Amino acid sequence: MKVDVLADCEGTFATLREAFPAIHSDEDWWIPVNCALLRSGDATVLVDTGAGPKPRPFMPDGDAALLDELARVGVQPDEVDVVVHTHLHVDHVGWTGSFPNARYVVHEDDWAYFMSEASLAQRQHLREKVLSLERVERVTAETEIAPGIHVQPAPGHTPGHMIVRAEGLAVIGDAAAHELQIADPNLVFVNDMDADVSAATRRRLIPELAAEGAAVIAGHFPGIGRIERAGKGFRWSSTAKTASSL
Ligand SMILES: [Zn+2]
Ligand SMILES: [Zn+2]
Repeated sequence: MKVDVLADCEGTFATLREAFPAIHSDEDWWIPVNCALLRSGDATVLVDTGAGPKPRPFMPDGDAALLDELARVGVQPDEVDVVVHTHLHVDHVGWTGSFPNARYVVHEDDWAYFMSEASLAQRQHLREKVLSLERVERVTAETEIAPGIHVQPAPGHTPGHMIVRAEGLAVIGDAAAHELQIADPNLVFVNDMDADVSAATRRRLIPELAAEGAAVIAGHFPGIGRIERAGKGFRWSSTAKTASSL
C-alpha cells in the first residue's frame, strides 16, 4: 500500500494556551491541516478533505492545496473511490463534494450531531458540502470500507470520531490534536466535545499503536510518524515528511 500525507494548508487559529489551557504559552499553535491518501491495488481512499477552497472562514489566509497535492502524487479527483471523514469539523470537510466517483464514509453519531437543524443553522458549509452528497455510507461500528482498510470508532473529539486502520498504519484524525497529547493523553484540547471520552480513547489507542509500531498520520501533526515508548509513557516521533510505502 502507498500512503501519502497531503496538507491542504498550514496556519494557526489559536494560541497554545487557547487550545490547551494547561499549556502556559501565548505562542501561536501552528498546524498543518492534513489529509491522507491510501492506495492499494483495489482502491484509492482519501481520509478527510482539508479546509477547502477559498474564500472560507477557517484559516482564510492559508493555502487551499489539496487538489494540487493530489495531482503531485498522480491522482485526479475522479479517481478517488472512497472518502472517509474521521469527523465533520470544518477543517476536515473542505473539499468534500469534489470527488465525483467517491462514496463518503461518516459515523452515524457525527452525522446525527452535525446534520441536526441546530447544527446546520450554524454550519451552512455542511448543508452545501455534506448534506447534498448522494453516496454516503453511515457506519456505527468497525467497518471494512475497502479491502484491508477499516474504520474504527475513536470517540470524544466528536461523538462519532473514527480512525482509519490498515496493516501497519493508523490515520488518527483529531483523536490526538497535538503531539503533547501522546505524552500526556489527559491533556485537554478545548475543541474536544467530550474531554473525558477523548482522553479515554487516547489512553486505549496510544499503547496499542506503540506496541504495533504502526505508521501514524494525524490531522495536525507534521508528516508521518510513530508512537514510541518513553519512560513510563509514550512520545511522538516523526519518521517521514510526506510519503511511505507499507
Ligand atoms: Zn476536529
Ligand atoms: Zn482538525
